Amino acid sequence: MFMFLIVLLGLIAGSFLNVVIYRLPLGESVVWPGSRCTGCGHSLGVGDLVPVLSWLWLKGRCRYCGGKISGRYPVIEMVTAVAFLLVYLKGDMSCYTVGGWILSSILIACAAIDYDEGIIPNRITYPGLILGFFISYFTVGLPSAFLGALLYGGILFSAALLSRGGMGGGDVKLALLIGAFSGFEGAVLAFILTSMMGGVGAVYLLTSGKAGRKTAVRFGPFLAAGGWLAYVYGAEIINYYLTWLSYF
Ligand SMILES: [Zn+2]
Repeated sequence: MFMFLIVLLGLIAGSFLNVVIYRLPLGESVVWPGSRCTGCGHSLGVGDLVPVLSWLWLKGRCRYCGGKISGRYPVIEMVTAVAFLLVYLKGDMSCYTVGGWILSSILIACAAIDYDEGIIPNRITYPGLILGFFISYFTVGLPSAFLGALLYGGILFSAALLSRGGMGGGDVKLALLIGAFSGFEGAVLAFILTSMMGGVGAVYLLTSGKAGRKTAVRFGPFLAAGGWLAYVYGAEIINYYLTWLSYF
């Protein structure tokens, strides 16, 4: 029963993230006016806004103009719900879990906006960074959060300097934020995981001059995936790795 409520919370959060992902890059308010069809502008009612189900029920089309509604809306809602549930299964009811829900939301929004637009908005990373330090006080501890932010932000800042525009300031700020939420060890692991997921290739391309300003790599989704895994499964991944090492 309680898990059902967590999934519901995740779906609702995901529904809000869809609004953020669509409106923030346009400079629009995320709270006003209410949701509208992006095709015809008709304001949407409660029946149009039930996460995932409305989309299925309306077969991915607007009730008013018949225009197609992207399948990404229900996907973002489901991904958020699954992320919320996995964080809860790991942390039960705790500050760690609340922090994980906030971090999941931030990472999903940043990954999607960077994927679409090639930017990571300050309007997410600045407040997110402050929240991260605040929550770290109850989880990894402030000193660890500062070290993590400094380390991960520093690495990406160096990479941004070397790449001369291929990697942006938004990536650096997102790395700072991930470090603040996950602490020093988490930041180290996040960096390793992100690098393994294709980041190494991107950094090589950028620093070797094979790719430059015009081929800016959209790094946000990699940062988000690595950061999330490090926050939620950091201990497991490190244990697994040490066990594996002990066979040699
Ligand atoms: Zn419409």
